[in-house]
Amino acid sequence: MTIDPGSIRYLRTVLPRWYRANRRDLPWRGTSDPYALWVSEIMLQQTRVATVLDYYDRFLDRFPGVDALAAAPVDDVLALWSGLGYYRRARHLKEAAGIVVRRHGGVLPEDEDDLLALPGVGRYTAGAIRSIAFGISAPILDGNVFRVIARFFARMESWSDAGVRDRYWRAAAVLVPRARPGDFNQALMEWGALVCTPAAPACASCPVRRRCGALENDMVAQCPAPRTRPAMRSVRRSLLVFSDGAGRILLRRRPEGGRLGGMWELPEGSGRDAPGAVRSGSFRHSIMNERYDVEVFCASGGEPPCGEGEWTWVAREELGGWPITSMTRKGIGIAAAAATRRRRRPGDGGEA
Ligand code: SF4
Repeated sequence: MTIDPGSIRYLRTVLPRWYRANRRDLPWRGTSDPYALWVSEIMLQQTRVATVLDYYDRFLDRFPGVDALAAAPVDDVLALWSGLGYYRRARHLKEAAGIVVRRHGGVLPEDEDDLLALPGVGRYTAGAIRSIAFGISAPILDGNVFRVIARFFARMESWSDAGVRDRYWRAAAVLVPRARPGDFNQALMEWGALVCTPAAPACASCPVRRRCGALENDMVAQCPAPRTRPAMRSVRRSLLVFSDGAGRILLRRRPEGGRLGGMWELPEGSGRDAPGAVRSGSFRHSIMNERYDVEVFCASGGEPPCGEGEWTWVAREELGGWPITSMTRKGIGIAAAAATRRRRRPGDGGEA
């Protein structure tokens, strides 16, 4: 992709000015602490800003620096991450903090190769940390930035093509200025998040509409070319909320190494697995390209349906501090709501 000098000058002038006047007041904005910025960038991967807001401050209160994170038990990190999803990010962050302490004296490095050597840090995160925290003229590229560049230059290409992504990395490197590269990169992110959104771009109020190629050529709705996405797979599951009758719930630990490794979850089960189990309800849940239809059963007392692996009883009031999966959190919520309904029915009782 060839980028003309006029467009470079235009974007470097207009975008940062618009950003400084319109940026959202987010807790990680304005920080020059590379660690805090790193945490925010990892949390924001695949996750909406509104969701991250609930976690960011709590995480930094509990782990205010690299040393604290490196020294913490991984279960404490996972517990604080519980509900944010993509738990491998939390494990990587914790592992990377240990590496930063051992190799870099507890100071996040600014060298690109050193950053890329940390688990969970890819090109985008390295570029964000280097440009925003260290003021280095480093590019960023994710789906958002890809879309705004494609539209501005009226390019009908797809993010799914690795060769295309390489070209856009080079374009992003050409665009990012030496002066205040962090403001420029954050302007790109904010432009894609607030104005040039995927489905409903606000062209009328866009800061660069005067020179937008997609707008000029009436290509906004088609640009960029769609991604090829893996087909969604439907999966049925039954979860069992098994209580010991004293307010504790049975959980099993997922094996280390796999998806959600080390997290705690409800066992699989229905009336066949626990005599007397009753159906509490159902819910839907999606993880990447899998859509789960989940039925929730609850049972109380009797022989716990433990199989192989690590199992534990957890008191309901302590669940908030446990690293449990989002699906398990939903399942327990469904069972609790059903138990409340049953208690309200005269002549009925029972415990979820
Ligand atoms: S004018 Fe519309 S399509 Fe072009 S960059 Fe702005 S919001 Fe996006």
